[in-house]
Amino acid sequence: ARTPIMAGNWKMNLDHLEANHLVQKLALTLKDLGHDYSATEVVVVPPFTDIRTVQTVVDADDLPIGYGAQDVSTHDEGAYTGEVSTGMLTKLGCSYVVVGHSERREYHGESNELVGAKAKKVLDAGMTPIMCCGEALDIRKAGTHVEYVVGQINAMLAGLSAEEVAKSVIAYEPIWAIGTGEVATPEDAQEVCGAIRVRIAELYDQGVADAVRIQYGGSVKSSNVRDIMGQPDVDGALVGGASLKADEFSKIVTFLK
Ligand code: 13P
Repeated sequence: ARTPIMAGNWKMNLDHLEANHLVQKLALTLKDLGHDYSATEVVVVPPFTDIRTVQTVVDADDLPIGYGAQDVSTHDEGAYTGEVSTGMLTKLGCSYVVVGHSERREYHGESNELVGAKAKKVLDAGMTPIMCCGEALDIRKAGTHVEYVVGQINAMLAGLSAEEVAKSVIAYEPIWAIGTGEVATPEDAQEVCGAIRVRIAELYDQGVADAVRIQYGGSVKSSNVRDIMGQPDVDGALVGGASLKADEFSKIVTFLK
C-alpha cells in the first residue's frame, strides 16, 4: 500500500525566522494530535533561503518531517546566476524537490521536457521529485483535461526508468483550483489521478503504477481534505496557502482523525 504524503508548498512566503517558528509549531501540534508519521508522511517545501533553518530545526529535535525545495537547476555548478544545484540541496538534507509547478511553467516558461530533465537530476542526486501537472481553465472547459494531463505525463516521464518513476511523486494541480478557493470535486481529482495511474501502467507496468504516489493540489483545506483523500488514486495533497499555518496544516495532515 502507498503511504500518503502531505506536502506544504510555502511558495514565496515566510522568511527564515518565520520558517523556524512554523516548523517548530507544526511538530508540536502534530505531537499533540498524536500524529503517526509512518502512516502519513509530512513534508515542507520552503523557499531556498529557509532550507538551512528548516534543516537546523529538524536535526535539533530529530523530527520526522521531510523537507525540500521548490525548484532546482539541471546544471551541477558554474555560471548559472540565480540557480541552485541538486548537490547544494542534498548537502542541506533535502529529500524532495518540486519540479514543474504551474507557477514556474507560467512565469518562467518551463516545458515538460525541462521538467523531466529536472526530475531526472533530482533522482540522480538521490532525492524524490514531486512532478507537477495540471490543466488551465480553458482546457477544463473544453473537456480535454484528461488527454492534456496525460500528454504532460508522457513528455515529463520520457527519460525516466520504471524504477525511477516508481519512487517519484506526481502532483495533479488543476491551475483553476490553485489559490482560487475553487477546489476540484473529489470526483474531478480522482478522474485525472486515476488516468495518470492508468497511463503509467501502460508506459511501464502495473507494479510501477501501483507504487507511484499521486497527490492532488489546489485549494486543499482541512474542511475538504478528507473527501479528496477518500479517492482511490489520490495519495496525498500538495498544499499552498493552507500550509502556512501550523494548526491548519496539522489538521490536513491528520485528516483521518
Ligand atoms: P493553494 O493550496 O494555495 O491553492 O496552492 C496549491 C499549490 O499550488 C500547491 O503547490
